[in-house]
Amino acid sequence: MTSTHCSTPAPAIELQVRAAREAMDAATALLRRAGCRPTAQRLLVLQALGGGDHVDADEILGHARERYPAIDRSTVYRTLDALVEAGIARRTDLGHGRAFYEMARDHRHHHAVCQRCGAVAHVHDGALAPLAEALAQTGFTLTTDREITIPGLCPECTEGDGHAHP
Ligand SMILES: [Zn+2]
Ligand SMILES: [Zn+2]
Repeated sequence: MTSTHCSTPAPAIELQVRAAREAMDAATALLRRAGCRPTAQRLLVLQALGGGDHVDADEILGHARERYPAIDRSTVYRTLDALVEAGIARRTDLGHGRAFYEMARDHRHHHAVCQRCGAVAHVHDGALAPLAEALAQTGFTLTTDREITIPGLCPECTEGDGHAHP
């Protein structure tokens, strides 16, 4: 009987461990820069957000519980609020009636949301310049601290429709 498991870690695992440690260091530094104490809860929630995706509070709770089963919902919600307040995370309404969270970015960005499958694409703020100009003619200005959610169909759902773009 061979027992190769539980021997010295394979290089791939060592790499994963090192990547996890580096991610943790980065998260700790991020919190410190924002003036937040790097508590275990905040680090857990940040890790759940780190993928660059849009995740809702339940997904973050599930992710946090994988590592720390005792963490409760209100702790996760409070932690998310603190991260949003500190400018580390953003809360985004993607039109599903619930809030999504993502890591804050340098630039404001907007979201196109597929009305069929919920896929999300980012739209650069500069893309709204023509809209801002058109609005200016009515005397309106775009509110600069708001993000806009644009309903649409993602490429896959457009294709499934038989109305693919040329
Ligand atoms: Zn879609
Ligand atoms: Zn986003």
